[in-house]
Amino acid sequence: MRITVDVDRCIGSGMCALTAGEVFDQREEDGTSVVRQPDPPAEALDAVREAVALCPASAISLSADL
Ligand code: SF4
Repeated sequence: MRITVDVDRCIGSGMCALTAGEVFDQREEDGTSVVRQPDPPAEALDAVREAVALCPASAISLSADL
């Protein structure tokens, strides 16, 4: 699984870092998302999917590793 955040869409709400803090962080300057683990461990995937669902800007994408 590969995670990407569209920084042009991200509004810095912080929901991703709150929901899956081991995978997402926020930039100090503006709160926009930083992906700490683009290829997260299996045990983090439920939290990542929740973060995708909660993101108010629909800025987080998941794609399968090919
Ligand atoms: S939840 Fe979405 S809008 Fe909020 S910081 Fe994360 S990626 Fe950005």
